[in-house]
Amino acid sequence: MATFGKILIANRGEIALRIQRACRELGIRTVVVHSEADTEAKYVKLADESVCIGPAPPAQSYLNIPAIISAAEVTDAEAIHPGYGFLSENADFADKVEKSGFVFIGPYPENIRLMGDKVSAKAAMIKAGVPCVPGSEGALPETPADIVKIARKVGYPVIIKASGGGGGRGMRVVHTEAALLNAVNLTRQEAQAAFSNPTVYIEKFLENPRHIEIQILADEHRNAVFLGERDCSMQRRHQKVIEEAPAPDLPARLRDRVGDRCVEACKKIGYRGAGTFEFLYENGEFFFIEMNTRVQVEHPVTEMITGIDIVQMQIRIAAGEKLPFRQRDIQLRGHALECRINAEDPYKFTPSPGRITSYHPPGGPGIRVDSHVYQGYTVPPNYDSMVGKVIAYGATRDQAISRMRIALSEMVVEGIQTNIPLHQDLLNDKGFIKGGASIHYLEQKLALEKKRVVK
Ligand code: ADP
Repeated sequence: MATFGKILIANRGEIALRIQRACRELGIRTVVVHSEADTEAKYVKLADESVCIGPAPPAQSYLNIPAIISAAEVTDAEAIHPGYGFLSENADFADKVEKSGFVFIGPYPENIRLMGDKVSAKAAMIKAGVPCVPGSEGALPETPADIVKIARKVGYPVIIKASGGGGGRGMRVVHTEAALLNAVNLTRQEAQAAFSNPTVYIEKFLENPRHIEIQILADEHRNAVFLGERDCSMQRRHQKVIEEAPAPDLPARLRDRVGDRCVEACKKIGYRGAGTFEFLYENGEFFFIEMNTRVQVEHPVTEMITGIDIVQMQIRIAAGEKLPFRQRDIQLRGHALECRINAEDPYKFTPSPGRITSYHPPGGPGIRVDSHVYQGYTVPPNYDSMVGKVIAYGATRDQAISRMRIALSEMVVEGIQTNIPLHQDLLNDKGFIKGGASIHYLEQKLALEKKRVVK
């Protein structure tokens, strides 16, 4: 088995710990880089080595490419795992890592570049036979009359999206022609400011879709498989809140058909590593929206139902191994849910960093907690508010939901606010329990409840 002696983890928080655990199981030593704000974190102390690469602001630490590469040189690491967020989908980083003589644990830089630009990603998917949301063919032109013509052809409502967008930012829904040009200009300005790329495109705005995504693994020997799907429709402001696998009531033959298309697309573009094809699903049809070229926050639900360790597979693929299984070996068994635990006000959603004065993680059959926090840990204010994930597995969806309810009722996090009450509310919500709710469900529910409180 080809492998590495030492891996540098260029990330923080729960995913830094998750990657560390995968390395340990593979007998690989770890280096964790961290900012001054994370010096005291337990996972930093657990790593074989750690290097402080700068002050708290991400631009000076977790996004500081030269500092990360020097840390790899100083510690003699062989490969770099970027986790998610930060530099994970930065093709220039992947390029520099490889040019400096290290292995980037992820896809080839040209694949990251192709998929990181949503306009070029869609074009590549159309070519590979993956079904896409109807919309402008490529970037929107400059001429207002041409933009109006395109939007008319697509049909209102439309959504204007930034080609370089990510993290749910750089999107605007337009219902009427009167609002179109202004919205295009605003989105362009925002896209330029946030992603240094003013390119925008138009898609049909789907009114009631579900978000369903396909996890794939591909090796450099042109083998690829898909590990079933995840339903991530419970969202607020385009951010996922609860994810599950498999997607409730999704006909297996539709899933397999789109999964095969994703596998073919991977082979066509020569993709390497783990990746996710994100789709909107409406009236029995899949529409590709984007590909994530990295491990995702919600990867554990797929691990639970397939028994495959996705992070270990990323490492083994980067070391040049062949996939140890074929499509027919992939069996989906049972059901898994993931609740993202955020340090925030459960209904106002304002971040709530600070010291955790009391912490009791849940346990029991089918419960997995991926979190780096502990009693006495201080959640720094500088980063994403997610402090961990509770994953529940059951033979059926009902069992997974019931185990999740018990887990969250046992869980104690004091000193900071968390969104656990919101999850508990959702786990008892009729629409959620029924399964198959659309991406707008949670926001509609929250809006209704707000109205009730105001009355
Ligand atoms: P990001 O890269 O910012 O995550 P995506 O393209 O993945 O952007 O879209 C994020 C979310 O925005 C989707 O999960 C969905 O909720 C919404 N969305 C995106 N495109 C459309 C569309 N054409 N119609 C309806 N909703 C959309």
